[in-house]
Amino acid sequence: KDGEVTPEMLDQLSKESFPPCMQQLHHNLKTNHHLKHNGRMQYGLFLKGIGLSMNDAIRFWKTEFCKQMDGDKWDKQYLYNIRHNYGHEGKRANYTPYSCSKICSMTPGPGESNGCPFRHTDASVLRQRLQGMSLNREGIDTIVEFSKKGHPQLACGKYFDMVHNQDIGFTPNHPNHYFDESRNVLN
Ligand code: SF4
Repeated sequence: KDGEVTPEMLDQLSKESFPPCMQQLHHNLKTNHHLKHNGRMQYGLFLKGIGLSMNDAIRFWKTEFCKQMDGDKWDKQYLYNIRHNYGHEGKRANYTPYSCSKICSMTPGPGESNGCPFRHTDASVLRQRLQGMSLNREGIDTIVEFSKKGHPQLACGKYFDMVHNQDIGFTPNHPNHYFDESRNVLN
């Protein structure tokens, strides 16, 4: 899988097949040219999981961050961490992408965009976002209800079914699981 996905494909893939937690991180990175540590971990490991190679990950993060910072400074502050996530530094461990339950357990602090939108986003804001995507009213009600009752993965599964125009009752337990299932449906 390594190298299957390149930075040039991410805008399109995020629209088609990223779960909302990763769409949110991609969007914020592209808008602010920065993500805080937890967001970089959550998104960086997800990207590794969908097949972005280490060299492409370095190119992707550096290009975005360097829209507002110096390249040398970026190398000093951020390069190690990306190499580390790919097992090329430190203990050379193979770090795995975060599961839904891990993401749901990490409440984002001020200015952070990690976390799960079905767990950490206020119901009225969530509803507004879903309305902005022109999903139907009944579906939005179901998603918001699941989210309010503390069932983020059921909310996410309903969202998945709606954006893929199907009704198979899919429930993700991992953002990479969501992505793979989406590619299966679309290809
Ligand atoms: Fe991401 Fe999982 Fe939340 Fe869906 S339920 S948005 S895949 S963390």
